[in-house]
Amino acid sequence: MAKTPQQLIRDNVLALNAYHVPDVGEMLKLDAMENPWPWPGALQQKWFEELAGVEANRYPDPSASQLRGALRAWMGLDSLANASELEIMLGNGSDELIQILAMAVTGNDGARPVLMAPEPGFVMYKMIATYVDIDYVGVPLDADYELDLPAMLEAIETHKPAIIFLAYPNNPTGNSWNRQSIEAIIQAAPGLVIADEAYAPFAADSMVSGLQQYPNLLVMRTLSKVGLAGLRLGMLAGARDWIEQLNKLRMPYNVNVLSQRSAIFALANQDVLDTQAADLRRLRSELSASLSEIGGIKVWPSQANFILLTMPADSARPVHQSLCQEGILIKNLHGSHPALKDCLRVTVGTGEQNKQFLSALNEAMAAL
Ligand SMILES: *Cc1c(COP(=O)(O)O)cnc(C)c1O
Repeated sequence: MAKTPQQLIRDNVLALNAYHVPDVGEMLKLDAMENPWPWPGALQQKWFEELAGVEANRYPDPSASQLRGALRAWMGLDSLANASELEIMLGNGSDELIQILAMAVTGNDGARPVLMAPEPGFVMYKMIATYVDIDYVGVPLDADYELDLPAMLEAIETHKPAIIFLAYPNNPTGNSWNRQSIEAIIQAAPGLVIADEAYAPFAADSMVSGLQQYPNLLVMRTLSKVGLAGLRLGMLAGARDWIEQLNKLRMPYNVNVLSQRSAIFALANQDVLDTQAADLRRLRSELSASLSEIGGIKVWPSQANFILLTMPADSARPVHQSLCQEGILIKNLHGSHPALKDCLRVTVGTGEQNKQFLSALNEAMAAL
């Protein structure tokens, strides 16, 4: 008799909950850090014309050399002192790059490899560690969601992590951690440190310049949060010696022809992306200010295109539900981590969308 799924599948996979993406239909989506704007009309037309030339019967360029060139420029790699020693690899979203990193590493002295990240943080780090069957260690942030440097250094000493992920800025808290702490962690780490800069276009600082000093630092970016979530394109930059090895685990055609051509086109029109990011930063300040005027909500500072809110005790769930009933979807984080008690996360939308959200939120709060 052949084995059943329960007999054949690893216990840690059986114990997983499938990654849940809500079916949103017509709702206003302010839950997933998507850019609220499509391309301006004229540009959209040019994009379609560009795609008309794509040969879908051919495999994509496996090395995506033209796109990698454009992305190097977008990340500012070429102006670094050691630019010629740096390489970039592409993933089907940065999620795939996290998976490649987790698949590639060995443990310390024959132990299982450890992937470490501060918590609360990006949930995919832990999930992917489970997918590829390596160990995950989460280190609590302090009460202000800032890095607890002594705790991080102690955890590094104890667990000797192969990989440390530092989301800069962090999701779901939205803040950018102290740069000195990050550099101390890079210096103490026995393995790789990945600065996950998914929100770089909305942030004041970047670790890209650190690629000149720290051979164990890699910087990861994505086009998802700047308006191209549908393309699924992430990138990882760092010393060629690392990227060469990691590239061996990349599926040869992981970035399809439509995504490659679309991303090249998008980056050739980078001013549009930059303008939208600047508009979102402005809208973020306005939304933060409006939220701060509502009594009882703690509005956390954000360097990203979303804002974390601590709601009055026990109100996150009813407020979330009430917003859902009004057709507005945000993220309820209450229950996802002890440090996110009573927390909601809202993506910055257009001015109109933010107004709609604020008005529904005010109503929900009044009805508590
Ligand atoms: C959204 C996000 C990513 C993104 O992923 P893609 O797979 O590129 O869409 C990576 N890291 C963090 C911290 C994120 O919030």
